[in-house]
Order: sequence, then C-alpha cells, then structure tokens
Amino acid sequence: MKFHIITIFPDFFHGPLDYGIVRRAREASLIDIQVHDLRAFTHDKHQTVDDRPFGGGEGMVLKPEPVFACVDTLNFAPRVERLAASAKQSVILLSAQGRRFDQQLATELANLDEIALICGRYEGVDERVNTALADREISIGDYVLSGGELGAAVILDTVTRLLPGALGNAASSQQESFTAHSGQTNAQPGPDSTCASGGLLDYPHFTRPAEFRGLPVPDILISGDHEKIRLWRRRSALEKTLRNRPDLLAGAELSKEDREIRDAILAEQQHSSPGNR
Ligand code: SAH
Repeated sequence: MKFHIITIFPDFFHGPLDYGIVRRAREASLIDIQVHDLRAFTHDKHQTVDDRPFGGGEGMVLKPEPVFACVDTLNFAPRVERLAASAKQSVILLSAQGRRFDQQLATELANLDEIALICGRYEGVDERVNTALADREISIGDYVLSGGELGAAVILDTVTRLLPGALGNAASSQQESFTAHSGQTNAQPGPDSTCASGGLLDYPHFTRPAEFRGLPVPDILISGDHEKIRLWRRRSALEKTLRNRPDLLAGAELSKEDREIRDAILAEQQHSSPGNR
C-alpha cells in the first residue's frame, strides 16, 4: 500500500514513522510512504503556501494551487472514479469538520492501494480542496489540532497494522478493541476465540510477575482452565465497555452468552451501592 503525505512540515514525519510495526511494514515493503513538501509546488520566491481569508477574519488559509499541483503529480485516477470506488485510491483531507475516524473507517481504507493525506495548517485549507480534489474529509476526533500531520500519522499507523502481514500474529488485529467482526465465527471455544472483541473494548492483559507490589494477577488467568479464562475475559471486556464506552454496546455483536453476562453485570451494579464502585 502506498501512502502520500502532503504537508508544509515534511520533517515532522521523521519520528512517528520510524518505529515498531510501521517501521517493519516499510522495511518489508508492505507499505511505501512518500512525504511531499507543499512548498515545492509554489512558484514564487518566498514559496508562499498561505493567504488571507476572503471575507475577512482571523488567521491564514492554505492556498489551493500548491495542493492541487502536488496531487496532480501523483497521477491518481480521476476523482469521479475514486468516488465510485472503481479506483482503489483515495485523496483524504484531514479536517476537524470531517467524518470521524474509527476502526470501521480504517478497515475500509485498508482495502485501498494508494492514499494521499492532505495536512491542513493555520485556519484550514481553501474549501475547494475539499469540494473538488479530496474524496473524503476525515477528522481524528472532536478536538482541534494545530495541523493535519498528527492526524495523518494516526491514520497511517492504524491502517498499516490492519494490512495482512503487518502484525506478527495475524489473529491479533481481529481480537482488539472496536474490531466489529471476529472473522472466526466457527472458531471453537478456547483461548484463541475468547478475544474477538465483536465491537467491544479489549479485555485486560497481564504478564509476569504474578504478583507485583502486592497486586496479584487474577487467579483464573493462571489456572490453565481455558473455558474459565474465556469467560473471565469476555466478562471483563463487557464490564470495561459498560463502564468506559457504553455507547459501543449498541453496535456490538453480542452472543446469547454475552447478553446473559451483561445482564448479570447490570443486575450486580444495581444491587451495589454507589459507594462500593
Ligand atoms: N478552523 C478549523 C481548524 C483548523 S486547524 C476548524 O475550526 O475546524 C488546522 C488544520 O489542522 C486543519 O486544516 C486540519 O488539517 C488539521 N486538524 C485540526 N483538527 C483536526 C482533527 N480533529 N482531525 C484531523 N485534522 C485536524
């Protein structure tokens, strides 16, 4: 998969893309990342990329010409084809006003062959980039960053770890928080099938030592009883999701067993006084 990052701060990406899974994916040629300096697509002495907003108001706006010129050099399929999904390419504008990025959207993007990520700065990017050049406007969350670069790194990282071969253990990406489909519907009960989150948060993980500063690991996890471990993990994932992200439960794939566990947790919560929580 090929990523293009379009930015006025190309050096920004020296750190974030040089570690761990993203680094290994680059070394294994699973991904190729090209960072394009927007200033290289200007024609004036000062390499001007911004200008004052029409209509007045605060700050500066990224000019459209260098952004269009840069994307032109990428030789992507025409926008109509990209929008019709007949080309496995996407030009993405990072924007606080975009569709909110999540694991589902990351999965959609992971099916593409080539992605361009346009990083805004200042008050934002001339809106014609959004309406006539980009095919998607994506926000990484409901807050305002000072630039799209962190957002581009977030998208690149999240999509990369979904690519086949990027994780050491292929099952891992199926088993994590938010992952809607296990892809293992026929899996036998056992430690491997415990984990498909089905849209819930991940269950808690522990490693050695079994006791640390007086804090023991839950006994069940050292018991060797796979069925008990499976149930404990599922219950923990449900508890944590109910506590931290109850909104996720509405869209989660809950089995009959999950629903029973959920109801038991809710019943217990009703019986415990607020002081006990
Ligand atoms: N005036 C804009 C914010 C501009 S911030 C507004 O109120 O919506 C400058 C740039 O940072 C944006 O052009 C965008 O590329 C990036 N950015 C800011 N917040 C972001 C977010 N939540 N997700 C993705 N990119 C963001």
